[in-house]
Amino acid sequence: MADNVLVLKSGRDRSVRNRHPWIFSGGVKEHPKAKLGDVIRVATNQGELLGYGFHNPNSRIIARIFEFTAEERTFDETYWVEKIRNAYALRQRFLPEGTDCYRLIHAEGDMIPGFIADVYGDVVVVQVLVKGTEMILPALLAGLKELGFAHVRLKNKDAAERFEGIDLENGWIAGGDDGALETVRTVSEHGLRFEVDIERGQKTGFFIDQRENRRLLSKMSRDLRVLNAFSYSGGFSVYALQGGARSVDSVDVSLGAIEEAKRNVALNYPEAEHRGIAADCFEYLRSDTTEYDCIVLDPPSFARTPKAVGRASRGYKDINLNAIKRLPPGGLLFTFSCTGVIDRDLFRKIVFGAAADAGRPVRILHQLSQPFDHPVNIYHPEGEYLKGLVLEIG
Ligand code: SAH
Repeated sequence: MADNVLVLKSGRDRSVRNRHPWIFSGGVKEHPKAKLGDVIRVATNQGELLGYGFHNPNSRIIARIFEFTAEERTFDETYWVEKIRNAYALRQRFLPEGTDCYRLIHAEGDMIPGFIADVYGDVVVVQVLVKGTEMILPALLAGLKELGFAHVRLKNKDAAERFEGIDLENGWIAGGDDGALETVRTVSEHGLRFEVDIERGQKTGFFIDQRENRRLLSKMSRDLRVLNAFSYSGGFSVYALQGGARSVDSVDVSLGAIEEAKRNVALNYPEAEHRGIAADCFEYLRSDTTEYDCIVLDPPSFARTPKAVGRASRGYKDINLNAIKRLPPGGLLFTFSCTGVIDRDLFRKIVFGAAADAGRPVRILHQLSQPFDHPVNIYHPEGEYLKGLVLEIG
C-alpha cells in the first residue's frame, strides 16, 4: 500500500468495521505520511484496507471516513457529484409542500464529513468545517451547479477555520451576481414566509431543523397564550399564530433577532397579537409575571465538550423548572436541547428533575427530534443532536 495509510492499533478496527466514520488519535498505530486535509487510507494492523477519509493530524478526530471499502480506488469529481445528487433525491422525495428551505447536505449524515449545505430558495449557504472538504470544494460546487444551484455562499464560524486551517473567506463562492445578490432572502416553509439573513444571521441564517416541531406547535396552539423563549427570528411564533394562538411573545437576548421575529410575524400575520421582547430568558422566566398557557424553550447549545455537561445540565434544569412552575394546569411545554454532548436520556432526566422540583404532575405527549433532511447515520450516533419533549403540566 502507498504512503498515505493510517494503521490502526490492534483491536481498534471494530468501530470502523461498524462504519463509525471517526478515527480517534488514540487508536492509531502508524500515522500516514500525509498533510492536513489529504485523503488517506485507513487499514488494520494486518494491512487490511477498511476505507478512505480526510486527515487532520492536529485533531482528536484524526481521520473522518467518507467511504468504507476494501478496494483500492480514487475519488474524482463524479464521486462527489453523485453524493450530492443522492442527497438531493432524498430531499425531493419527502420535502413538505410549500417549502423551499431545507438542509441539502448534513455532513456525516450524507457521508460528506464537515460539509453543511442549506438551501434557501435559489441560494445555497454552505459551511466547510474540515480541511479535507475545503480541498474538494470545487467538486461539491460542481454537484450543486448540476442541480441548478448557481448561487452559493460560504458562512463559516471563525473557530472552525482556525482549528482546521481552513483558508476561505465568507461570502459568495459561486454566482451571487458579482456580489449584488440580496443577502436577505425570503423563503417558504409549509407555506409560511420567513426572511432569512444569510450574511448576518445565526448558523446559516435559519433554524431549519425545527421545521416539523414548529408544525406540531401549530397543531396544538389554538387559543393559547404562547411564550416563545429563545425565539431567534420567530419561527415558533409564526407557527403558533398559524394554529390560532391568542397571543404570542417572542423573547430573545439578541435585539437583531427580535426585530427579525417582528418582521416575520408581520409578513404572515400583520394583525396578530405579538410582542417582541429583547431580554435574557433565564431572567425572564424567573421574574416576569405574564400568564402563558404554552411555553417553547429552544435555547442555544449549552456545551461543546463532555467537561461542560454539568454546567449545561444546570442551565437546562433552571429554565425548565421555571417554565413548569409558571404554567397553569393543562399548560404545555415544548422543551428542546440541541447540545450534542447531552443525549436524549440525559435530557429527559434533567427535565424529570425540573418536574420533580416543581412538584407538578407532568406527562410526555410527544418526543421530538430532527427532521429527515438532517439524517442520522445509524453508525454515527453523534449526528443526532436535537431532542425535544412536549409536556402537559397538570
Ligand atoms: N427557536 C429558534 C432558534 C433558537 S436559537 C427557531 O426556531 O428559529 C437560540 C437563540 O437563543 C438565539 O437566537 C440566541 O440569540 C438566543 N439566546 C442565547 N442566549 C440567550 C439568553 N440567555 N436569553 C435569551 N436568548 C438567548
